[in-house]
Amino acid sequence: MAIIVLDRDGVINHQPDDHVTSVDQWIPLPGAIEAMAQLSRAGHQLVIATNQSGLARGLFDLDDLEAMHAKLRALVEDAGGEVAGIFYCPHSDEDNCRCRKPNTGLLDAIEAEFDTSLHDCYFVGDQRKDLECAIAKGCKPILVQTGRGQHTLASLLSNPEPQLAATAVFADLAHFADFVLQ
Ligand SMILES: [Mg+2]
Ligand SMILES: [Zn+2]
Repeated sequence: MAIIVLDRDGVINHQPDDHVTSVDQWIPLPGAIEAMAQLSRAGHQLVIATNQSGLARGLFDLDDLEAMHAKLRALVEDAGGEVAGIFYCPHSDEDNCRCRKPNTGLLDAIEAEFDTSLHDCYFVGDQRKDLECAIAKGCKPILVQTGRGQHTLASLLSNPEPQLAATAVFADLAHFADFVLQ
């Protein structure tokens, strides 16, 4: 069973201008939950890797984050799938940690937890730091145009980097799931 790594904000749920700070603000994007359930039912292990610097800044606390993730897991389970794991970075830029994307600490932790390699696994994100993190770990970078994705795509097109040329672009998570499952 292959792991698919998913960014959270802007991929699975709506990305406000700043941070999702409460469970009520955690609102799934259209089709995202069903896409996750379909991928899960097809045997893929869905693992989320998300930067949550709002924790370091005190914008919300661990209870808030756990409530968001309980909601996410419950919605996917109601749709007949499951989330295999949720890994988050609680730090801010100033902490210079190893886990804040584009650093690969979250992916290292996923590999350790699942005793596997993420090489050639899909990594779906909406920001450049997701794509850079994916490439640094040998994952296949996938950009969705939800969240900050359209802005990221415009920036990739206006400022092409050879490193990011392998990025595949989809309208949203549902279209990515269709591609994987076809
Ligand atoms: Mg994002
Ligand atoms: Zn971190």
